[in-house]
This record gives sequence, C-alpha cells and structure tokens, in this order.
Amino acid sequence: MMGDASGGVADFGKTLSASLGAFADTKGLDGMRAAVQSLALETQKMQKSNSALQSKLKESSQEIASLRQNLEDVQREAMTDSLTGIANRKMFDTTLRQRAMEAMEDGEPLCLALADIDFFKKFNDTYGHQTGDQVLKLVARILQSNVKGKDLAARYGGEEFALILPSTKLFDAKTVCDNIRNSVSTKRIRNRTTGEEMGNITLSIGIAVFKPGESLADFINRSDEGLYFAKGNGRNQSVLETQLESVSTN
Ligand code: GH3
Ligand code: MG
Ligand code: MG
Repeated sequence: MMGDASGGVADFGKTLSASLGAFADTKGLDGMRAAVQSLALETQKMQKSNSALQSKLKESSQEIASLRQNLEDVQREAMTDSLTGIANRKMFDTTLRQRAMEAMEDGEPLCLALADIDFFKKFNDTYGHQTGDQVLKLVARILQSNVKGKDLAARYGGEEFALILPSTKLFDAKTVCDNIRNSVSTKRIRNRTTGEEMGNITLSIGIAVFKPGESLADFINRSDEGLYFAKGNGRNQSVLETQLESVSTN
C-alpha cells in the first residue's frame, strides 16, 4: 500500500511537471483549461489513494495493538502457574537472578524461603488429588496475600513454594514465613459439598540470605537445607540458615 502510494505521488509529480510545460506552451484558453482539468483529475486520484492509505494504516495499527495485547497475555501466561495462578518456576528463576544482581548492586539483604507442605502425600491418598489441588490453591493464595512490593511468591514445583524477599533481613523473613505458616495451619480444611472436616495443613520452611557473589544454586541449596532441617525437627516450622550453623557447631 505504501509502495502504491509513493508510486501515485511520483505520477502526480510527473503530471505537475507536464502541466507546467503545458502552461508554458499554451497560448489559448482551451489549452489552459485542458491542463487545469488534467491537474484536477490527478489531484482527485491522489486524494482517493491517500484516504485508502489512511484507512489501511488505521486497520494496521489496530492489528498491531491487538497483537501486542496477545503477546503480553502469552508472556504473562508463560510466567504463571496454571493451577494456582501465582508465579511459576520460570518466573521464579528469572526473578531470583534479577534480584540477586540488584542485591549485589545496592547491598541490600535478599532472602529466599522454600516452603513444603507437610505429609501432603498422605493428604492426597486420603482425600484425593482433586482436593489436594484445592489445598495447593489455598496455600498459594495465603502466600500471595502475605507478600508485597518487589516480593515474589511462586510455585517452585509440586507442593513446594518459594518466596523471594528483596531488601529483607533474615529475621524479618522469618516473621513473614511464620505469619504464613500460622495462616495456613489455622485454616480448617473442609469439603464444601460434603462438609467433611479434613483437619489442618502445615508447612515446613527453610530461609537463607544471599551471599553476594555466590551461585544461585548455592543460595537455593542453603534454603533447602533449612527446609530439610525443619522436616527432621518435627515439621510446621521456619528454620533460618543461622540456626543450622549453631546446630552444627554445638
Ligand atoms: P513431607 O512432609 O516430608 O514433605 O511429606 P510429603 O508427603 O508432603 O512429601 P512427598 O515428597 O513424599 O510427597 C509430595 C506429594 O505432593 C506427592 C504428590 O502426591 C503431591 N503433589 C505434588 N504435586 C501435586 C499436585 O500438583 N497436586 C496434588 N494434589 N498433589 C501434588
Ligand atoms: Mg516435597
Ligand atoms: Mg511435602
């Protein structure tokens, strides 16, 4: 369409120069009239092709806007866990890398908490996978409602969740995690249709603070060690990496 339009402009230019020649040559009124008529005709053609171009451009810009919206939707979907609606593992990986770089630049403490539902296999075996899925959604909702600003709550995989807490000291991260644990463990899980009580769900959580320069794998491992310790120490608790140090030196 743009090509056609510029061809039209070139033709118009040629007609103009031809008309100028005609004016120069023409002595009589008839010749003048013919030249003006041909100019008017060419001008009309130009107007037509310009307005066609305008409507085509409008169509294209609407199409671009809709494609851009689609792209944003797909990008958001690619970063979202389809069951729980919170950030997925991919989003977790991207965000952790980003926040670790920022922590090295601004010197702020960055905490990572890994949470795992206690005895979830037994819950699934007793009440079914579908009910288990509802519990995963509930835990995700509680995590999400306990984070703010640059924090990220993500489904790390299966029945494990992660919290990325920038500009947060280890001890404050523990407060956030304990609040989450309390919210989860005090929710009475009940089947909506049958009214059946399914007891309570608890979380074990390990928390570590980023050491500038360390690999993300090491950072994740240290949170995981806290989680592992929490499991062995009776579950339903948040364990800081510093607690592990005091255990291993005692
Ligand atoms: P622990 O306290 O040691 O963590 O015990 P656990 O039973 O929770 O741990 P385990 O790793 O043995 O089992 C995890 C269970 O989580 C197994 C699997 O059935 C369940 N699970 C993982 N992903 C999903 C899911 O998407 N939906 C449901 N309903 N269950 C899941
Ligand atoms: Mg697990
Ligand atoms: Mg578990």
